[in-house]
Amino acid sequence: MKVVLQNVTKIFPSRNKKSKEEVVAVNNFDFTIPDGKLVGLLGPSGCGKSTTLYMISGLQKLTSGKIFFGDDDVTDLSPENRGVGLVFQNYALYPHMTVKQNIMFPLQNLTGKDKLTKEEMLSRTVEAAKLVQIDELLDRKPSELSGGQQQRVAIARALVKMPRILLLDEPLSNLDARLRLQTREEIRRIQRETKITTIFVTHDQEEAMSISDVIVVMKLGVVQQIGAPQDVYDDPVNLFVAKFLGTPPINVFSGKVSGGKVYIGDSEAVADAKGVPDQEVFIGIRPEGFIVDAAGPLTCTLSGIEVMGRDSSVITTNAASLNPFIRSIIDSDIKVDPKSEKVRFSIKPNKIFIFNKETEERIRPEVK
Ligand code: ADP
Ligand code: MG
Repeated sequence: MKVVLQNVTKIFPSRNKKSKEEVVAVNNFDFTIPDGKLVGLLGPSGCGKSTTLYMISGLQKLTSGKIFFGDDDVTDLSPENRGVGLVFQNYALYPHMTVKQNIMFPLQNLTGKDKLTKEEMLSRTVEAAKLVQIDELLDRKPSELSGGQQQRVAIARALVKMPRILLLDEPLSNLDARLRLQTREEIRRIQRETKITTIFVTHDQEEAMSISDVIVVMKLGVVQQIGAPQDVYDDPVNLFVAKFLGTPPINVFSGKVSGGKVYIGDSEAVADAKGVPDQEVFIGIRPEGFIVDAAGPLTCTLSGIEVMGRDSSVITTNAASLNPFIRSIIDSDIKVDPKSEKVRFSIKPNKIFIFNKETEERIRPEVK
């Protein structure tokens, strides 16, 4: 089931009677979520992710715009009638009920033509439990489960009604690091098996990048960029997106374009910028974009080397860097003398981006 968001906007009135300042939580969100895909909705806390999800689920009313599931306009439909499964960060299972009863609960409220027999409810419950691999635990109480197992019960409970759309709001944030990794793979598997269109909200870029077919990056209620994770990483539209994606993060410098070349501080030209007018710019270089090169144009002061197996992280400083340290990832086979004072780099042309100093929008040189 595709989900169409048409100019979806949510404005919250001011909570403070004295000030009239309203909050534009979601501003003109316009996007069609393709059928059967896992979409990662990504951005810092407060950027409007949950509000977007609640509007899709029907828990929040839109201020303006429309939402369609397939061709059905669901904008004014109540949450019960939308056929969505919702999983929250605080998965809040009923403590006095067993796992089986927790999963079955949503089915017991079905009425009319949707009403199920006891047998049908049980078989749907077992099926959902199998899907999330907790069918061995059906008779336990939530307190007898690990955090990861509890979250699976919550997912099973969302799946048992066979939703048209699955909405997950930061479902992994209460889990420890190892479980987070494992559970996100599980979510990916379940989504592939069920092919339910799924929207996965997270503030964790790595989480979103690793499991999403498509990521949507938001900032202050406004969608910044939509695309396949690798495409957005390789081709960010602005400095915010460039900085938000990637670990270690992109290295940012102040510099300039002059005569169609890019300069960092007083460096030699580090890249071409054909057709770009002379101006001050921000320059972003991905950690993997540095090549140790005795004749390279960018000279930095060596601060340390961390060997991480296959790769090394060469940590340097430069007066034009906006971050205290520059982190470059290079092949461990390439030896940098830890006693050397300076390291010179050349820069891979596809790993360096330039941005307008005022708007922070990407500036794209002409391709040669
Ligand atoms: P996220 O999930 O990305 O952290 P939210 O969607 O929860 O962000 O919030 C987006 C913005 O809307 C924030 O500025 C938040 O304070 C505001 N907001 C959210 N819910 C309400 C509400 N019920 N009343 C007023 N403001 C709200
Ligand atoms: Mg939220």
